[in-house]
Amino acid sequence: MGRRTYTVDYCDFDEADGKDVEATGSITVGIDGKLYEILVCDEHGAIRETLDAIKELGKVIEAPLAPASRRGRSRTPTAPATANGEPSVAEVRAWAKAQNEAAGEIVYPVAPRGPRIKKEVMDAYKAAHA
Ligand SMILES: [Zn+2]
Repeated sequence: MGRRTYTVDYCDFDEADGKDVEATGSITVGIDGKLYEILVCDEHGAIRETLDAIKELGKVIEAPLAPASRRGRSRTPTAPATANGEPSVAEVRAWAKAQNEAAGEIVYPVAPRGPRIKKEVMDAYKAAHA
């Protein structure tokens, strides 16, 4: 007779308690843009009821999961331009950061502080405010 190997999934909740309880299902949840899968036994599967409340109250965001939408947020107020007509570094930096946040990725790389702004970022800012 051949040998058969079975894989047994254990409930992650019980495993955290040092107990081996066979999982009877799994739950996938998205939290802050990341998907998590957790294996559950019948007892811990009850967490699904709590999650069902979220399903009813929240709205479905179509995949791919991205950082929470910033749409609808008010625009960053623009600071006055500097005396020579050039936008201030702080102003351009704030604008670049807002663009990066809105896009969910680094579109315009800017250092958190410092006196300089990359020329390409400055040019993009000017183009956007022309
Ligand atoms: Zn369990």
